[in-house]
Parts: sequence; C-alpha cells; structure tokens
Amino acid sequence: MKKNSNIPIFIPELACPHQCVFCNQEKISGTNSIPQPADVKDIAERYLETIPENRTIDIAFFGGSFTGQSVDLQEQYLKEAFRFVKNERVSGIRLSTRPDYINEPILELLKKYSVTTIELGAQSTSQVVLNESERRHSFEDIRNASNLICENGFELGLQMMIGLPGDSYERSIQTANDIVSLGARNTRIYPAIVVKDTALEKLYHEGRYTPLTLEEAVEWTKHIVHIFEKNNVSILRMGLHPSDELVIGKSLIAGPFHPSFKEMVMTQIWKELIDMELQSIDSNFSNNIKITVSDKQIHYAIGYRQTNREQLVSRGYNVRFERNPSFSQYQLNIG
Ligand code: SF4
Repeated sequence: MKKNSNIPIFIPELACPHQCVFCNQEKISGTNSIPQPADVKDIAERYLETIPENRTIDIAFFGGSFTGQSVDLQEQYLKEAFRFVKNERVSGIRLSTRPDYINEPILELLKKYSVTTIELGAQSTSQVVLNESERRHSFEDIRNASNLICENGFELGLQMMIGLPGDSYERSIQTANDIVSLGARNTRIYPAIVVKDTALEKLYHEGRYTPLTLEEAVEWTKHIVHIFEKNNVSILRMGLHPSDELVIGKSLIAGPFHPSFKEMVMTQIWKELIDMELQSIDSNFSNNIKITVSDKQIHYAIGYRQTNREQLVSRGYNVRFERNPSFSQYQLNIG
C-alpha cells in the first residue's frame, strides 16, 4: 500500500462561533495568517515539489471549522484544491470541522469537489466534558454527523482529546469505544494542555482545572491505542504537533505536552509486551537475552531514551535487541 502525504492548509478558527476553553489555534499552530483561496495553488505547488514519488497525496484543510464558513467561501477553497484532483496531481481532499456543522447540503457540496475524508473534532463523547469545555455541541451532534458522513460514503475521522475539564480515565475510554462504534476509520489523540490566552489558562490559574501529568496522559493513551488498534481504527497522530511557539515554551502554560509523546506511549506498550513475554518463559532462563522485533518497532521496543533497555539492565538482564524485517508489528521473540 502506498504511503499517504497531506498538503496541509491551516485555516485557524475562521468559522468558529466562539472559543472552546482549551483553544487558541494561533498559538498551537504557530501561525496567525490565514491562507486565502488564491493561496491554495502556491501552497500545493510548494509541497508537491518536496513530496517523494509513489505516495497518495491529499490536500487537507485543517484547523477551525471548514464547513462553518459561508458556502461561497468553502466553494472558493474547494475549487482551487479540486484543480489538483482533476489533473491527478493529488488523489483527494480532506478537511476537519465541528460535528454541528455537518448536514446533507454541506455533504453534497463536499462530494461535488471530491472530498474523501471528513475529520470531526469530537474531543469527547461525554456530555459533561463537552459542556465543561464549552464545545457547545452535544454527543447527539457527533452521532448524527458521523452517521451522515458514513451514509454518504465519506471516510470518517473522529479526533479525541484526553484530560479536558470534567474528563476521567473511564470517560476517555468510553470516548474511544464510541469512536469505534460510530464507524471512524481514523483518529487523532490529543492530550489537553493549557495554552496562553485561553479560558483554560484562567481556570488553571484559579485552581479550577488541573491538567493530566505526562505520565497519566501516556498511561491513558496506551489503553486507548489498544482499543483503536484492536478495531482497525488508524491513529494518525498522538500528541500535538510541536509548533515553535509550544516547543520554546512561549505559549505552553502547563500540561502534558512532549514532542516525543508518541514514542513515550509506544515505549510503555513495548514495556508491557516484553514483561509479559519474560514472565511466560522459563524462570531458569539465562539472564543473557536477545529480544527480536520488527524493523519499524525496534526503537519503540528499546524505548524512549533507551528506558526499556535500561530498565531490563537494572533488573539484571544482559540484553541485546535485534531487528527482523519479516516480523509483524507486535511480534516479539526473546531467546
Ligand atoms: S471549534 Fe475547534 S477551532 Fe473552533 S474554537 Fe473550538 S477547538 Fe478551536
């Protein structure tokens, strides 16, 4: 299967009717200029020069609430992107939007311009969390929009956040299970962080909101990953993309942001797998062990900053990791 690349066109908060408590798109994305429809061509051309051959390519309108804009403006953006679909330089268009900005006429418009995937910022399926985060839409909105998207033949993506106001481990697990049963084919998992100039920043300073610790966020995500992988929902992202604003700490007030968040989650998944395998083998087994895993997983098996390797060494193992390109994702051999 060919790898997919996106040409991201970030349209921050263009159509948002209000500000969700956690959101300051400008700070998170590191951009404050909104690309106009006429800019789509140049952006796409620029990206096309850098994308390796043999990939499927989508033009992706991210951020904000694409379908909340006027029909006229949506059409202007879509027309520009559709030129690249028509001349077969990209295979489709994807976009993200709010669950309450989906209805039949909107989907008809998106079909006309070859939109293939619609990602909804669901964030949570708990009404408590939705209310406390001031999303101003309901779980019913998420359910209705998901059904409409699937019935109309689009690929559905549902993004979730963990650790929002009112969230709990159980609620986030329920959200992941709901995302599966609503028919999502892909997802993104974002731990909530406190960003400068948001309502959440105020709540945090008033002591009315406590973000997850990094350890909690990794632990919750580990369990959520199991749910999605078991149900073939592909995880497009874990953790926020590190914009310069966030990385150099200008906008991050508090919370479980880490540029290597995914690696930390995968490290924990592999720690568990290795420990289980060690428990199942003979207790008289020599302490000289060789752990064989697939090429793609070896750095996760060794662990973020080698933590899995070091932990095994501290338990008395003389450990060596080896790669086997024919191994499947979580295949593991200890010998
Ligand atoms: S709907 Fe999305 S983009 Fe708009 S304020 Fe809320 S989180 Fe931000």
